[in-house]
Amino acid sequence: MDKQQEYVFRAIEERDIRFIRLWFSDVLGQLKSVAIAPAEVEGAFEEGIGFDGSAIEGLTRVFEADMLLSPDPSTFQMLPWRNGTNGVARMFCDVLTPDGEPARTDPRAVLERQLARVADAGFTCYVHPEIEFYLVKRDEAGRIQPTDYAGYFDHVPGGTAHEFRRRACLMLEQMGISVEFSHHEGGPGQNEIDLRFADALSMADNIMTFRAVVEEVALQEGCLATFMPKPFVDQPGSGMHTHFSLFEGDRNAFYDPSGQYQLSSTGRSFIAGLLRHANEISAVTNQHVNSYKRLWGGGEAPSYVCWGHNNRSALVRVPMHKPGKGQSVRVEYRSLDPAANPYLAYAVILAAGLKGIEEGYELPPEAEDDVWALTEGERQALGIGALPTSLKSAVAAMSGSDLVADTLGEAAFEFFMRNKRREFMAYDAQVTDYEINQFFPRS
Ligand code: GLN
Ligand code: MG
Ligand code: MG
Ligand code: MG
Repeated sequence: MDKQQEYVFRAIEERDIRFIRLWFSDVLGQLKSVAIAPAEVEGAFEEGIGFDGSAIEGLTRVFEADMLLSPDPSTFQMLPWRNGTNGVARMFCDVLTPDGEPARTDPRAVLERQLARVADAGFTCYVHPEIEFYLVKRDEAGRIQPTDYAGYFDHVPGGTAHEFRRRACLMLEQMGISVEFSHHEGGPGQNEIDLRFADALSMADNIMTFRAVVEEVALQEGCLATFMPKPFVDQPGSGMHTHFSLFEGDRNAFYDPSGQYQLSSTGRSFIAGLLRHANEISAVTNQHVNSYKRLWGGGEAPSYVCWGHNNRSALVRVPMHKPGKGQSVRVEYRSLDPAANPYLAYAVILAAGLKGIEEGYELPPEAEDDVWALTEGERQALGIGALPTSLKSAVAAMSGSDLVADTLGEAAFEFFMRNKRREFMAYDAQVTDYEINQFFPRS
């Protein structure tokens, strides 16, 4: 038995833990959970816990349904909202086939495979996300309303938002997730919490935990939290901008003191990869019909494929860093939204950036202007293309992508495309209030 497993058994004993939840993700990024008794933990480490994979979105087909959950002891944490006696803990799991092979469609395995490629190229990847979401309530008529009418960085005396963020941040810290910043965002009821950097796999786990914690704390505060990318027509959407850096040992491979913005040629090619493959990875980074209403609905969400330094209209940004802090040079990818599957999204973004490095892609010039304010002709002259405008066009771009197919693996790729086609077809078949209002005869 290894040290981490020993720690798990000791913690179960000392903290009177009665339930251990095994957590994993379906292909769409929905958190799945099964509770086991303490007596089952040893068997779970040794042989895994069996379950019906075909009942989980995208995991397996019915004729290969049997799957195993293999808990990762390094992810053992108490669930703080279940504190007290008869405690509850959780571990993230890898999904295995009955012969102990990683399941091809397990999102965690997809990211682990991609991180092995990143490691083969000599890099360790660190990421930190800025996660935005809305706090909402239902009014008497059952309509969704924001919990306040504050804006960006507003200090709201009393109110739900402060108390909510304080509780959420403390709970995240209790679960070993460090928070760097938290503040009210631009929309009414909209908040942002930024997590301290970690390796990409831990961070994808952290995002799954984050969404569960935020939903839990919202319920305690008598409201609901939504990670829907664009809940209100006239308000900014919620993004999950993520900052990436690659390290070679303890050296930041994106840092070169002599480069423009102190960005190395490795960093430049990484960005070039993100730009060249942005459209084909879009269905993964922005997986819902609603995601495209955020991207094309203003509110500082990117709509065009370009990069910039201090330019918030760009898809990729090289943020300013303090003088002498070369190790913090990083690349911010801004289209990603908080309803994505974080494992798959980080896998395809890293695949795009790594491809840029491996093939030595040239970085086009930066966008210096507000690209939303340019005319179509001006953008064309600058070689600035558009992100997909709908899930349908994103899926079309993905369907021809070797990069995404290689990264997700055939089974997850096929499932994902089928699921997304179903989503936009069901959506396209709706007759909306907008259409009724536009086309119904007015008497
Ligand atoms: N909410 C914006 C988005 O959707 C970001 C706003 C900001 O953080 N400046 O991307
Ligand atoms: Mg921010
Ligand atoms: Mg923000
Ligand atoms: Mg940002």
